[in-house]
Amino acid sequence: MNFCSNCGSQISKGIPENEDRERYYCTNCGVIHYQNPRVVVGCIPEWHGKILLCLRNIEPRRNAWTLPAGYLENGESALEGARRETWEESRAIVYDLVPYYLADLIGVDQLYMMFRCRLSEPNFETTRESKDVRLFAEKDIPWDNIAFTVIAQTLKRYFADRANGAYVFRNEQLTTHPKRRRN
Ligand SMILES: [Zn+2]
Repeated sequence: MNFCSNCGSQISKGIPENEDRERYYCTNCGVIHYQNPRVVVGCIPEWHGKILLCLRNIEPRRNAWTLPAGYLENGESALEGARRETWEESRAIVYDLVPYYLADLIGVDQLYMMFRCRLSEPNFETTRESKDVRLFAEKDIPWDNIAFTVIAQTLKRYFADRANGAYVFRNEQLTTHPKRRRN
């Protein structure tokens, strides 16, 4: 960030008055440009014991498998966002969404909220974002080609809980590599 979105002046970085940490702020108009984590919402869609995964057609991690997930939009709930992302990436309609896994990715400034859910029908298709969409039994999950650590972790917790007969909501902090940090 170089210029103030409020007045167009050059932006400075430092600790403004009454703040306790470094911020980007405008020395001309005084506006502080806060930067906060982005929220990613997604689903673990299940159909008769199988889990829906999408083969990414976009960077980062093109050609790796993922659960449908994406950035929450302004004006929508986390649940609505997770349902929308699932539709956008796989054209699958999901229901019975239940909050399941909350992951803090401190290094990349993201918060993941993943929902358990079911497909209303085994209907899905490829999209601009997904070059392939498939249902996987647990034994067939492509563990060596899962797009992100947080997705692999979500799946591991899910299958472990399922084997135990009870799903437990969790909040975990995952170590992530800062090089993927957005600008
Ligand atoms: Zn300004």
